[in-house]
Amino acid sequence: PKKALVIGSGIAGIASSIRLAHAGFSVEVFEANSYPGGKLSEIQIKGYRFDAGPSLFTLPEQMEELFQLAGKDPKAHFDYEKLEVACHYFWEDGKQVKAWADINRFAEEVETKLGESAQHVREALKSSAYIYDHLAPLFMHRSLHQISTWTNAQALKSYLKMGKLGIFSTMHEANAQRFSNPKLVQLFNRYATYNGSDPYQTPATLNIIPHLEFNIGAYFPKKGMHDITQSLYKLAKDLGVKFHFNAKVDEILVERGKAIGIKVKGETRLAGVLVNNMDMVNAYKTILRKQKQPTKLLNQPKSSSALIFYWGIKKNFSELGLHNILFSEDYKREFEHIFKKGSIYEDPTVYINITSTHKPDDAPAGGMNWFTMINVPNNQGQDWDQLIAEARKNIIEKVNRVLKTDLEPLIEVEEILEPRTIESKTSSSNGALYGNSSNNRFAAFLRHANYSSDIKNLYFCGGSVHPGGGIPLSLLSAKIMMGFVLGK
Ligand code: FAD
Repeated sequence: PKKALVIGSGIAGIASSIRLAHAGFSVEVFEANSYPGGKLSEIQIKGYRFDAGPSLFTLPEQMEELFQLAGKDPKAHFDYEKLEVACHYFWEDGKQVKAWADINRFAEEVETKLGESAQHVREALKSSAYIYDHLAPLFMHRSLHQISTWTNAQALKSYLKMGKLGIFSTMHEANAQRFSNPKLVQLFNRYATYNGSDPYQTPATLNIIPHLEFNIGAYFPKKGMHDITQSLYKLAKDLGVKFHFNAKVDEILVERGKAIGIKVKGETRLAGVLVNNMDMVNAYKTILRKQKQPTKLLNQPKSSSALIFYWGIKKNFSELGLHNILFSEDYKREFEHIFKKGSIYEDPTVYINITSTHKPDDAPAGGMNWFTMINVPNNQGQDWDQLIAEARKNIIEKVNRVLKTDLEPLIEVEEILEPRTIESKTSSSNGALYGNSSNNRFAAFLRHANYSSDIKNLYFCGGSVHPGGGIPLSLLSAKIMMGFVLGK
């Protein structure tokens, strides 16, 4: 059979290997780390288990499709449940809102707790669905780098509706126009962070995201987020994919405009198809350093990064669910710090993900595994040791104020992930979580294509190329990439 090599075993790399094996290729994956999954890995310390990176799972059909492709029943290999409450929101003045998956229940909750008309919430989610229906087929499921994408009937219909799709205002402007309660504006603005963007800059088009959580649904894999990696890794192996760990690729070999193989651990491996899953910016700096650089694409501003404290907490907080948000009192200033000052605001929005609420064996009895995260700027060489020490203090004080507790003595174990270590562990440039930011309306057009236009037989997948970061889009990148390999 024809041979394909994949560089990197992030979820898009694994998904690509599955698609290539299914298409009859003999596939080998080379991974720098000693484990698969890249950003989607796990941490175990003293009886506590944490999903290391992504915590929110949407669009499960992207996962299921891979099992179906291999003729397997997805539920038998990767089981997940729909969340009844997508997120628990807390403010300092004691207000709390549960984002029920049931839209009417959520709308009524908002009306009761925040005094905003339930109808406004329903309309917002309808408008979110409208954007999704018009743009997802164009921007998520297809390559933007093929003429046919722009000349089909779907595209023509969408051009006529540009205004309604939110291209000309920011997410914040649209939300502030729709809602009168600033807390609800804040709640809806938060969706910009789902791809590492700034609600005060990103186009209102990103109001597409609430549709994923409410209308389509937020889910939890029954064995934890890490099972996304584990189950796909197992599927790939069942299909005959060969994985090499601790195998950092040094170079993609190119001869007369054609990728012919890789250099890894001093050896040369040849193949007819090369798929790169490594972050695009760092790939051009390292394994493609001798090739022509797509400078404009490489220089686009990156998404935000994250500071995470994995805390084993020896107490049960019954008011907390799987996803919890303790909102900042001044959201605008928080984003100015992240995207303009390159710093961390003293009153950050704190996100606490607790999988032990759904998977009790993730923490010892009577305890909880807190994945405590704040959004931070990507790495521009800041004094992170100092920023992290200050942020830790501010986060603990915030939790103490909102949950009326004394957290420090309850922290039994601690591990930290931050922009520098996100970059060193996954090669993500500047430690950005989602590749390029979506802070301007042209961002979608300034991501790298899923193939190289200069080098034949070289393809790209992953969160730093089209259609973008996050699990569903990374999985879709593998699918779009495969279309090019098969010449579709
Ligand atoms: P990556 O995970 O980036 O992996 C790339 C792999 O390539 C790594 O394993 C790396 O070691 C390997 N590699 C790099 N260079 C080489 C080389 N030279 N040779 C061999 N191997 C190499 N998404 C969501 O959908 N929901 C969330 O809630 C969410 N939260 C997040 C929270 C955090 C803290 C982080 C870090 C990310 C989050 N994301 C979330 C984003 C999501 O994790 C990513 O978009 C997705 O996992 C990217 O997958 P990828 O295939 O691009 O590969």
